[in-house]
This record gives sequence, structure tokens and C-alpha cells, in this order.
Amino acid sequence: MLRTTLLRRCPRCGGGRVLRGYARVVRTCPSCGTELSTDPGGFLTAMAIAYGIAVGMGVPFAFWLAGQVSGELALIAGAAAFTVAILLIIYPLAKAWSIWLHERIGEFDASARED
Ligand SMILES: [Zn+2]
Repeated sequence: MLRTTLLRRCPRCGGGRVLRGYARVVRTCPSCGTELSTDPGGFLTAMAIAYGIAVGMGVPFAFWLAGQVSGELALIAGAAAFTVAILLIIYPLAKAWSIWLHERIGEFDASARED
């Protein structure tokens, strides 16, 4: 799970990349052909996790930053920039993890598994 998430690889074969560009899910795994695309609502979990982690790290950072800078504008701008940066880093990983999760619960290519 950790390897396929961090490397953004197919959860079934571990070979093909599941994201194209920043965080666009490929329709099928280029290595094994597993269908990966889900409806956009399928990635709400990934968004919630990414936002949760970003805010969860952003709030302690803001408290730390409050002791480092003077002025509310610098504090708000610094904390917001940090939180957005974390969100941008975490979101593709959360999406790759979500693909892994969907594969594990049998959402992808379920008819092929029943054969
Ligand atoms: Zn694959």
C-alpha cells in the first residue's frame, strides 16, 4: 500500500502509473489493463484526507509561526501558504491511496474478478 501510494503505481500489478500529470487518474493501468477510472465522487475521500492533513499540519504551523513573525498579515499569509503547499503535496498521494483503497474493496474491474 505504501509503495504503490508513494510511487503512484497500480495497486494490482505495481507496474503502471495511475496518475497522469499532477493528479489526473488514467482510465486503465498501462501495465495490466485494470480499469481505474471512477466517478468524480469516488475521490471525495482523497480530498477529505488531503484537506484534513493540510489543516492538521497548518494549524500547529500557524501557532509556531506566531512566535516567529510579528504582524497578523505575515502570520496569515505564512500559515495559508504553508497549508496550501501541504495540500498540493498531499493531494496526489491521497488520490493514489484512494485508488489503492478502491481496488482493495473490489470496485475496479469487479466483473473480471468474478471469473
Ligand atoms: Zn496494473
